[in-house]
Amino acid sequence: MSDTIFSRIISKEIPADIIHEDEFCVAFRDANPQAPVHFLVVPRKPVPRLQDLTPEDAPLIGHIHMVIVKLAQQEEIAGAYRVVVNSGAEAGQSVFHLHFHVLGGRPFAWPPG
Ligand code: AMP
Repeated sequence: MSDTIFSRIISKEIPADIIHEDEFCVAFRDANPQAPVHFLVVPRKPVPRLQDLTPEDAPLIGHIHMVIVKLAQQEEIAGAYRVVVNSGAEAGQSVFHLHFHVLGGRPFAWPPG
């Protein structure tokens, strides 16, 4: 269940363009970017989907959001950006290790389709 491509990026078995790492999460640029800035923030803990979080994960999710705020500043998109979690196959999830997409550097439409 935890053996996804993101687990292998976290363990450095395969390379990625890592822009942040700490005790709880890793952030790296998306291999198929959908905006001028597009990176993923991934918990080290291999939670498959948002639906699989438990109350004990609340500090982790708060931490990830503070990392997103910091990285958006670092990537110079702090004025406007989109954070997306595709959670479940029908919602567009393809890698079943929870990840937060952060996209910026262009305007975004709504609804997202
Ligand atoms: P999702 O469809 O929400 O599960 O998003 C998975 C994302 O992971 C997609 O945007 C892919 O482009 C990205 N991705 C897949 N493999 C890699 C990889 N090896 N390095 C960086 N990003 C990846």
